[in-house]
Amino acid sequence: MKGARLSGWGGDKADCPLVKDLTDLGTAYAVPAGVTDPHLPQRLVAPPPGWVATADVIVVGSGIAGLTAALKLRERVDRVLLVTKTVLSEGSTEWAQGGIAAAMAPEDSPDEHFVDTLVAGVGLCDEDAVRALVEEGPARVHELIALGTQFDTDEVGAIKLTREGGHGQDRIAHARGDATGAEISRALIAQLRAVLSDPGIEVIEHALVVDLLKDEGGRVCGVTLHVIGEGEINGIGAGHARAVVLASGGLGQIYSSTTNPSVATGDGMAMCLRAGAVMGDLEFVQFHPTVLWLGPGASGQQPLISEAVRGEGAFLVDAAGERFMPAIHPQGDLAPRDVVARAIVARMAATGTDHVFLDCRHLGEEFLLARFPGIVRTLRDLGLDPARELIPVAPAQHYASGGVRTDLRGRTSIEGLYACGEVSCTGVHGANRLASNSLLEGLVFAHRVADDIVARFAAGELPPTEPAASGGPADACDSDHRLHIQTSMTKGAGAVRSAESLARTSRWLLAHADLPPTEAEPGPRTWETSNLLHLGQALTLAAQLREETRGGHVRSDFPDRADAWRGRLHLRRRDDGTLQVWFAKVPAQAAVEAAEARTAAHQSSEHDNLEHDNPQHQSPDPTPEQKEHPR
Ligand SMILES: Cc1cc2nc3c(=O)[nH]c(=O)nc-3n(C[C@H](O)[C@H](O)[C@H](O)COP(=O)(O)OP(=O)(O)OC[C@H]3O[C@@H](n4cnc5c(N)ncnc54)[C@H](O)[C@@H]3O)c2cc1C
Repeated sequence: MKGARLSGWGGDKADCPLVKDLTDLGTAYAVPAGVTDPHLPQRLVAPPPGWVATADVIVVGSGIAGLTAALKLRERVDRVLLVTKTVLSEGSTEWAQGGIAAAMAPEDSPDEHFVDTLVAGVGLCDEDAVRALVEEGPARVHELIALGTQFDTDEVGAIKLTREGGHGQDRIAHARGDATGAEISRALIAQLRAVLSDPGIEVIEHALVVDLLKDEGGRVCGVTLHVIGEGEINGIGAGHARAVVLASGGLGQIYSSTTNPSVATGDGMAMCLRAGAVMGDLEFVQFHPTVLWLGPGASGQQPLISEAVRGEGAFLVDAAGERFMPAIHPQGDLAPRDVVARAIVARMAATGTDHVFLDCRHLGEEFLLARFPGIVRTLRDLGLDPARELIPVAPAQHYASGGVRTDLRGRTSIEGLYACGEVSCTGVHGANRLASNSLLEGLVFAHRVADDIVARFAAGELPPTEPAASGGPADACDSDHRLHIQTSMTKGAGAVRSAESLARTSRWLLAHADLPPTEAEPGPRTWETSNLLHLGQALTLAAQLREETRGGHVRSDFPDRADAWRGRLHLRRRDDGTLQVWFAKVPAQAAVEAAEARTAAHQSSEHDNLEHDNPQHQSPDPTPEQKEHPR
């Protein structure tokens, strides 16, 4: 509990209530003096819409969440419009390597998946959301198979299951070795194309959604969007609908180095922020421990070396060739991602290097080629042979655990607006996502969103309505600033943060927000850059407020986990552009406490062994890893 402090909160922390649903966001939290409160616009600068498309539901995004929602909705809703920024297959789903987690083995159970998810989430998971995920997951995966997804199978036709970090059982289904996301995407897009002649569904590619539209009563009733390319619809238009489903993915491009594709500019989260939707867990960004290290200046999307490679027996070594994970965690190289990423950062600092190595040489060429064909191809294209050489790796941004806060039905705090997939914060991931739970979350919650919309339409809810005249302050940030925003976020609000680094980033982002836009005609690059800026400001604020280290949020000035911070930060834009913050306590979870006691016991026995093995061992000082991992 060292370092526990809830400085901005008015009451006694013992009084902090638990949050039951989205009408109860926790206790109002005053932003402490000295922390910059951002000032966000209500919308982006854009020309008025020149055309209108109407539908019952507009789905934004064509990853696993958007495609699942659209396919489910079209079965039971008259008109569905799916819009996506580039082509249908572009998004993080296409890049997912490791697989999709679901308790499908006879020796496994949803209960065990539940516990592993809570432990990875370091005490902040929403137990009801996790229950929905693990219990509905196996049936949803079987539906994916029924519609054509071909997971890898063994000689008798059973789905092959592997293990990844934080999982206590083999429960990760994969396809074409390391092309799981591409296979799921292929199957869902094939299904969509098969129904495209149906007048009940329309798809617009190269359609970038800019902002949400609301009616006089504040209900979301559509979007503004920019369509690039041929056809009748071009330029800025409006889509009107009874409900909007945001499935626009993550925010990886907010950092200079990420595993996410270029479309992941946090557009959905940023437009929700501007529209006044409640956001949650923004500070919990997952940095994947094993991203191929391509040199000090490498930026943009970087190749991922899937956790499944460690699942099959690969291990990490430092520059001296020494393994360091076994002494840190009972699961060794397969510890939860936050633990492995932090251990790598600590080892790099201790050895003065900017990367470590993954050793998979013992797995052999034949096995590597069969099990990880895509990864081997990528490495060989870059001149590296994983069967003979060590693979240089370092942590890079990978996943946003937070996002637009939803309830268990995928409803956000704004009527008519739903969110699912990586853009959302269902509470499933808490402070850190368990490996391969995100494809599953997109699948399970897209389904729930579709069910809720259908039920509400049947009950006569969400009748058609017209957007109010767009007003409120508008702003845009020049695309020239994109690289500076990414660098500033990486330096100050990246894998390891401190009050000083976050304050610097926040001042810097504010200075950019204050610059007058100079580009004559705003366009996609400007809008994306503005989204990075607005979201970066909110994320940095949340990271400044949370004075502890937990899951994906690592503070060098508060290296311990603090029980007083066992709760969720909710943020919402006020009408004046500043951010209102709430803190919502999460009940203690016995499974998390038991796992942490096991880790502490493991570390202490490793420490004793070290002393016993080496009587000359003089130094009682903890290792850098032990300092970083008091648990
Ligand atoms: C390299 C990599 C490997 C991964 N491996 C795994 C794994 O093995 N298992 C796992 O569970 N998870 C994995 N993940 C995470 C997982 O892939 C994602 O969390 C998940 O696919 C997100 O799905 P989604 O449908 O929410 O978003 P996405 O698949 O990212 O789709 C978002 C969609 O929204 C569109 N969009 C974005 N902005 C706009 C806009 N303004 N207007 C219109 N459309 C927009 C995009 O073009 C895209 O179509 C991995 C991620 C990466 C990057």
